[in-house]
Amino acid sequence: MNVFATRKLPQEVSDKLKQQVDYSEWHSEEQAMTKGELMDAIKEADGIISVLSDQLDAEVLASAPHLKVISQLAVGINNIDVKEATTRGVRVTNTPDVLTNATADLTFALLLAAARKLSAASAEVREGNWKSWSLLQLAGKELSGATIGILGFGRIGQAVARRAKGFDMNVIYWNRSKKPEAEVEIGATYQEFEDVLKQADFLVIMLPFAPELKYLIGEEELALMKSDAILVNTARGGLVDEAALYEALKNGKLAAAALDVFEKEPVPTDHPLLTLPNVEVAPHIGSSTLATRMEMANLTVRNLLAVLDGKEPETPVN
Ligand code: NAP
Repeated sequence: MNVFATRKLPQEVSDKLKQQVDYSEWHSEEQAMTKGELMDAIKEADGIISVLSDQLDAEVLASAPHLKVISQLAVGINNIDVKEATTRGVRVTNTPDVLTNATADLTFALLLAAARKLSAASAEVREGNWKSWSLLQLAGKELSGATIGILGFGRIGQAVARRAKGFDMNVIYWNRSKKPEAEVEIGATYQEFEDVLKQADFLVIMLPFAPELKYLIGEEELALMKSDAILVNTARGGLVDEAALYEALKNGKLAAAALDVFEKEPVPTDHPLLTLPNVEVAPHIGSSTLATRMEMANLTVRNLLAVLDGKEPETPVN
């Protein structure tokens, strides 16, 4: 069986694959493949290990006539045309659960960083602008007693809620289906979408990206939010209208934002959002702890090999 990985994988992972399949991989750990490079590389592939920057659309899938499985090294699969893969009899798998805690941790790290202005605080110390103690120096936003609104109450959304409870926050959420068991277990309350926007002191987006959710948070939605609220997006960039977010942050209609994801990644360094002091940013590292990333890689390999072996994968998408 011929397997291609669109990123260089850790040696112990690729060694495992080489024992069982005819394995090749893209030469870089960081550099994404172009569409043309991808189409060339997968012509003979029975299996692909993919990452979220690979656009596996109908045209790309058509260039891989032997393909049996796409094993995605992520939980989000919005870069894959799953319908087309299913039509072609190609199994798609992903890596849910193993990254839930790491991603919820990073979400909370960003939330805290925005609440307490950590990037500005760090810069003040490093750049020699720390003059003395002053009463309202870098005065931030209190978590205890504040309301956190979570859009998307699945695995990671609920893990964020559990962390919020540890900070004595009031947890409200919106999701397409209500989650009565999680509400009781965590102590969270379902609210309508607009009510979550209106009530949240911290708004956390934890939905998957789908075309119908594009710019779910735009000018109108931001206008409903409290002007001292903080928005945290560690889900997918396309869920937020970045131009509207920039205007809201610049004009004092929103206190701050913390973003791990952007509509275009890597985000261009001249992006207007990066000029604002009230924006905390990270380069899409939600799941990036060493333990989680290795678990994700190992699950990706197990899923891939299971399908090629005619077995059911552990975490199928289709
Ligand atoms: P999940 O367990 O599937 O949770 C997603 C939740 O969103 C589900 O509860 C689902 O409702 C709800 N939902 C889906 N479509 C919806 C819609 N159209 N309207 C309203 N609610 C909708 O997924 P997860 O594991 O928590 O991951 C969530 C997302 O986080 C991923 O898809 C990915 O994009 C992102 N993520 C980012 C990073 C990072 O590095 N920053 C890391 C991991 C994941 P139901 O329960 O009714 O299906």
